[in-house]
Amino acid sequence: MKVIVIIPAAGLGTRMSPMPSALDAKTKKPHPSKQFTELAGTPILIHTLRKFVAVDAVTEIWVALRENEIEGFRERLHQEAKDILKKKVELVSGGEHRQQSVEQALNAVSAAPNDVVLVHDAVRPLVTSEIIHEVIAAAKKYGAAIAGLPAVDTVKQVERTSDGAIVKATIPRAGIVLAQTPQGFHYNVIKKAFDEAAADGFMGTDEASLTERSGHEVAVVMGSPKNIKITTPADMELAEFYLRK
Ligand code: C5P
Repeated sequence: MKVIVIIPAAGLGTRMSPMPSALDAKTKKPHPSKQFTELAGTPILIHTLRKFVAVDAVTEIWVALRENEIEGFRERLHQEAKDILKKKVELVSGGEHRQQSVEQALNAVSAAPNDVVLVHDAVRPLVTSEIIHEVIAAAKKYGAAIAGLPAVDTVKQVERTSDGAIVKATIPRAGIVLAQTPQGFHYNVIKKAFDEAAADGFMGTDEASLTERSGHEVAVVMGSPKNIKITTPADMELAEFYLRK
């Protein structure tokens, strides 16, 4: 049984820089896309890949990148991160949206129905082996599983207006889990969900939402508050802090 990892890494990450075309203060070059921003001197994507390379059960890793970043990244792996290449690593071109990036990789893999496919955001470099193992085990058992975190804040449903947001309802916190990645599935489960979403023109913000609408239950394993999705410069500071510990 294979465990295939898909890393969508084709985002622009515009929330990291006020103006995507602005020059980076340190390098004087245009801001790199979020997954290439350096964390403790190493691109975020390389930190993330190392987390999956360290898990023996993982058999191959597919990275979806922006077309114009593929060759540069391949070279970078050969020059700076040969350790990653001890696993089978394939680079494919991503799409306009995260879902399309995952879909392009999913269409490129070859897998048996019960092989496990894990999808993980390139920009969550602080994931642990423990979480990865737990998602793999739950995906094998249930066919679909995500890492999630119970909500600690009170959750409000709002209506957005031109003046801001107005609270419409309070959603009982006990029934809320914040979805993280990795998210893991039997290949036949995720493939069916993506094929149906494509046929219906449905766009979700994670893989589980596609699987849910395809009628498959999704199990939740405990994620971690440290498994942050680096989105803004403040997240970089937090990630650097966690990395130093
Ligand atoms: O943009 P967002 O924060 O949702 O990105 C989550 C992950 O999806 C990131 O790793 C990003 O690189 C990836 N992504 C992608 N293709 C896109 C947009 C985002 O692979 N078109």
